[in-house]
Amino acid sequence: MSKKKKEVTLMDKIVSLSKRRGFVYPGSEIYGGLANSWDFGPLGVELLNNLKAAWWKKFVTERTDMVGVDAAILMNPETWVASGHVGSFSDPLMDCKKCKSRERADKLVEGWQFDNESEETPANWAAEKTPPQDMLDFINEKNITCPQCGKLDWTLPKAFNLMFKTQQGVVEGEGKDIYLRPETAQGIFVNFKNVQTTSRKKVPFGIAQIGKAFRNEITPGNFVFRTREFEQMEIEYFCKPGTDKEHHEYWKNFVMDWYKGLNVTPENLRLRDHDPDELSHYSNGTADVEYLYPFGWGELSGIASRTDFDLKQHMEHSSKDLQYFDEANKEKYIPFVIEPSLGVQRSALVFLCDAYDEEEVKEGDTRVVLRLHNQLAPIKVAVLPLSKKLSEGAEKVFTLLVRELGLKIDFDVQGSIGKRYRRHDEAGTPYCVTFDFDSLEDDTVTIRERDTMDQQRMKIDELVAYFREQFKY
Ligand code: ATP
Repeated sequence: MSKKKKEVTLMDKIVSLSKRRGFVYPGSEIYGGLANSWDFGPLGVELLNNLKAAWWKKFVTERTDMVGVDAAILMNPETWVASGHVGSFSDPLMDCKKCKSRERADKLVEGWQFDNESEETPANWAAEKTPPQDMLDFINEKNITCPQCGKLDWTLPKAFNLMFKTQQGVVEGEGKDIYLRPETAQGIFVNFKNVQTTSRKKVPFGIAQIGKAFRNEITPGNFVFRTREFEQMEIEYFCKPGTDKEHHEYWKNFVMDWYKGLNVTPENLRLRDHDPDELSHYSNGTADVEYLYPFGWGELSGIASRTDFDLKQHMEHSSKDLQYFDEANKEKYIPFVIEPSLGVQRSALVFLCDAYDEEEVKEGDTRVVLRLHNQLAPIKVAVLPLSKKLSEGAEKVFTLLVRELGLKIDFDVQGSIGKRYRRHDEAGTPYCVTFDFDSLEDDTVTIRERDTMDQQRMKIDELVAYFREQFKY
């Protein structure tokens, strides 16, 4: 019997290139790994740093209405009671008694027509507003069988909280339960008053934060698309009640434009407004920026209109006054909030997928090239001595570029020049500078461009000005 050849998808190619070039490795690999955990390697960490820096520059540095914070991951547990995460940040899970697979009840019923009269929707199911027996009855009635084995034999759905719980304190079992934060947003809300009074910002203004978040996801997967530990780049933008719709529109477009400005193909991006029954408990409107991943359209980032829900909740639970005093109009109010929330690793995945290209250089010879935006490219310039004998001269060029540009420059002597060019095409390095025997005589080098493969000769003392221009953003 002939074995069917498995189709190599774009995702397979990205995963393999990531490992090969040092972008992303399977987490704890020498111990057989840890399911759905990933470690970013030398190129991966540069990519993440560049994309976070690009975000911070666009969303914070270049604006007068934005400031940042870096709040602790571990927060007073009351935070999560106030935010609603202890009560409703859960998925209804059910087990197939036949094959033991575990599924999300709300996902199984997606697409089914609910009775218009009833309050039931998949979103309500997820928020546990429906009794488990009713969920099970619905699933049995509609004959929704197990997607793994095709049988209809489910357990009652059970709420599964997505927060990672741990203990604070040194005595086993006697510590206080605390949580790893499932979103960075609450670190901003609890600091609203501190930040507003110390920065003396007037509404409308925003607070930005980049940091780790943890969710015990039921269905992680698709490489770094959904993991249990990830970073978010979030803004809580505080505005006057009644102006929230206009700010929401603004931020939807701002986020879209940021991705497009970093060369993500516009046809692979779309904005999708949530249906009313999809909205989270705190939201009066949410839009997702979606991307056409190798596995289909999926969320890339969310722009939620969070009303005054969070500040109100924290006021109630902390008994602290978190209202804003508008001096000009002598009025006090709780600001409404717009939240653009972007995943760092999910964005990195999008930049990798979108930049990946295979190009036939000549018949039978295909090169793989990552056409990353200059701002994101992990290595900006690779300095390559044509022969090892030329290392000394080439090193001087390397030192000059590092000192004057302050960018990540690579020095690479291993292998033939053709192999080195290909290696840097795969790494997304926009420029290679080749130092050859003529360089010793005339102080010129060859600059090779990644995208066009064009080569030009340039004086060494013109390189700095040339690259300053290329990396001006
Ligand atoms: P999803 O519907 O994909 O689970 P979500 O709507 O729960 O995402 P948000 O709570 O809006 O996500 O989080 C904001 C952003 O954080 C997402 O758009 C995504 O970029 C990122 N993100 C959320 N969960 C994960 C995860 N498990 N792994 C990687 N990134 C994530």
